[in-house]
Amino acid sequence: MKVENNFAIIKEKIAAACSKVGRNPKDVNVIAVTKYVSNERALEAVDAGIQHLGENRDDGLLSKWEILGNRPVWHFIGTLQTRKVKNILDKVSYIHSLDRHSLAKEIDKRATSPMKCFVQVNMSGEESKHGVQPEVAIEFIKELERYSNIQIVGLMTMAPLTQDKQVIRHCFRKLKALQDEIRRLHLPHAPCTELSMGMSNDYQIAVEEGATYVRIGTALVGE
Ligand SMILES: *Cc1c(COP(=O)(O)O)cnc(C)c1O
Repeated sequence: MKVENNFAIIKEKIAAACSKVGRNPKDVNVIAVTKYVSNERALEAVDAGIQHLGENRDDGLLSKWEILGNRPVWHFIGTLQTRKVKNILDKVSYIHSLDRHSLAKEIDKRATSPMKCFVQVNMSGEESKHGVQPEVAIEFIKELERYSNIQIVGLMTMAPLTQDKQVIRHCFRKLKALQDEIRRLHLPHAPCTELSMGMSNDYQIAVEEGATYVRIGTALVGE
């Protein structure tokens, strides 16, 4: 399937999910996750009008960046090793996986202007998943105030590995509630207006529950 066709289908499904809950589809940004695919396929995605691209490894990002440069807005969506921060910092606009102080410190040190970050929250409780525990997320975010080059634009989570849609929905709903709680604090360094949640198998649920960024790989550009 052409990326263009997949994108059209996904946009329709997002519009349907939005109309179910009274949201504006313009408030949902689609990130094409290109980690499984070739540079050519990533180029096809950009040519199809997709504005946001996501990679989860520094080498994958650098390779695609060689070809695409700043045409798309780049998102780093994967676990980020502290020593790799310097490789990606001047190429990405968003980091979705901030989950520890050592990483915040390194980003803060290397960045030349505030980096837009999502705090990754482990909503599913699965040990294999990264992210801060929801109970300590607010405390963690408050502590990030000390890093002048870090701006918390939102929260990110990955749904549990399950076919149970209710379990997935519950996880997204809890992230939304946590976001609301943080927004009410009016922290200058953490406006927290965005929610990064939803992948190929669950993005419609995520949109119904308030996602402003969905990260779609398989269903959009392929595996
Ligand atoms: C791979 C990946 C995605 C996309 O997964 P698909 O199921 O292929 O849509 C989204 N988010 C993160 C963090 C990923 O690593």
